Amino acid sequence: MYILVINVGSSSVKFTLYSREHMRPTANGQIDRIGLEAATVHYRSGKGERIFPGADIADINDGVNLISELLTDPQAGVIASEHEITVVGHRVVHGGEKMKAAVLIDEEVKSTIRACFDLAPLHNPANLKGIEASEERFPRALQVAVFDTAFHSTLPDNAYLYALPHELYETDKIRRYGFHGTSHCYVSRRAAETLGRPLRDLKIVTCHLGNGCSITAVDGGRSVDTTMGFTPLEGLPMGTRCGDIDPAILLYLMRQRDLSVDQLETLLNQESGFLGLGGIGTSDMRDIEAAMLEGDPGARRVIDVFAYRIKKFIGAYAFAMGGLDSVVFTAGIGENSPLIRERVCAGLEDYGIVVDEDRNHRPGGSIREIQHQGGRVRILVIPTDEEKEIASQALELVSGAT
Ligand code: AMP
Repeated sequence: MYILVINVGSSSVKFTLYSREHMRPTANGQIDRIGLEAATVHYRSGKGERIFPGADIADINDGVNLISELLTDPQAGVIASEHEITVVGHRVVHGGEKMKAAVLIDEEVKSTIRACFDLAPLHNPANLKGIEASEERFPRALQVAVFDTAFHSTLPDNAYLYALPHELYETDKIRRYGFHGTSHCYVSRRAAETLGRPLRDLKIVTCHLGNGCSITAVDGGRSVDTTMGFTPLEGLPMGTRCGDIDPAILLYLMRQRDLSVDQLETLLNQESGFLGLGGIGTSDMRDIEAAMLEGDPGARRVIDVFAYRIKKFIGAYAFAMGGLDSVVFTAGIGENSPLIRERVCAGLEDYGIVVDEDRNHRPGGSIREIQHQGGRVRILVIPTDEEKEIASQALELVSGAT
């Protein structure tokens, strides 16, 4: 019996198939450019890798059908029939205040996902399409939704409330929700295993640093504060998103530059962050690091601002939790950039945070500790695996039900 994890974006679907026995991926892949001319399909299994450029995939339904065909293909497939898939786990970005854990999908859950369309307009509609396509294609399987926001449902009200008129929270539910919850949850569990201590005894700051970036304070296994807010725009600077800014900047730009709401949305989401601040035409941290090493001042600016903001949040969250046992780095930059890790932790010896240069530069790929001997705070690099976390949560939920 198998669990299929599906992660649908606006024009892409990622999928991973796990066998329920050992919870290791049996096959996985990605379909990009759905609905555009010439979609591309990558598929990997124990039988090798296949890439199909220029496929004709009109919509998410076609995408989900293709996934099923690939998995059951006599040559490339790994299962004899799609009925072997007993559970499908769906990543859903926004579950609002209602969704506090993984749930079996029914009409009420779908209407909650629909009710959050305005809060996650790029993600929730696509996530729901994926669910409906999967219900059609895998009618015998249990469909489970795992929400990015759910891990942060434990935020206390002093962390999730904004100092706006309270009526805006009560009527429009304007509050901090937090995102990347599946990743923060996964790495905090792995951190506890690595440290050999129960999660409930640990105060951890998890730094998810990828194209999107967020930091979470995890106290006793519960998210107690996180940098992303009402939307995934708040907090750290990211590839193309600005992160925290003075909200009055928006008013200034509307009045002085006559910018429309749509123009502001594009500016803040797509033209800011590393791309905008650096001004060197890239949001990719690898390129930015390479440019910095060649002395580019824009690239230096990005790295200085980014590392400083991360450091500031780690400090803030250590204070908020009243202690710090471990800092975890994860996602594309967190896992692969010794430079950013070193810059974030520089000068924190008095707080027990000391990176070991040699350990920090060792090649990655697996969980490792990078603190200097004697450093009190354990500094971990943990490859995130949101798909595996979705599969585990889905399995946990349905255990006994299948
Ligand atoms: P993600 O969204 O988790 O896939 O992360 C994407 C980000 O990770 C991009 O900014 C990449 O440039 C960055 N990244 C990936 N590999 C490296 C690396 N070796 N050094 C620095 N940044 C990296």
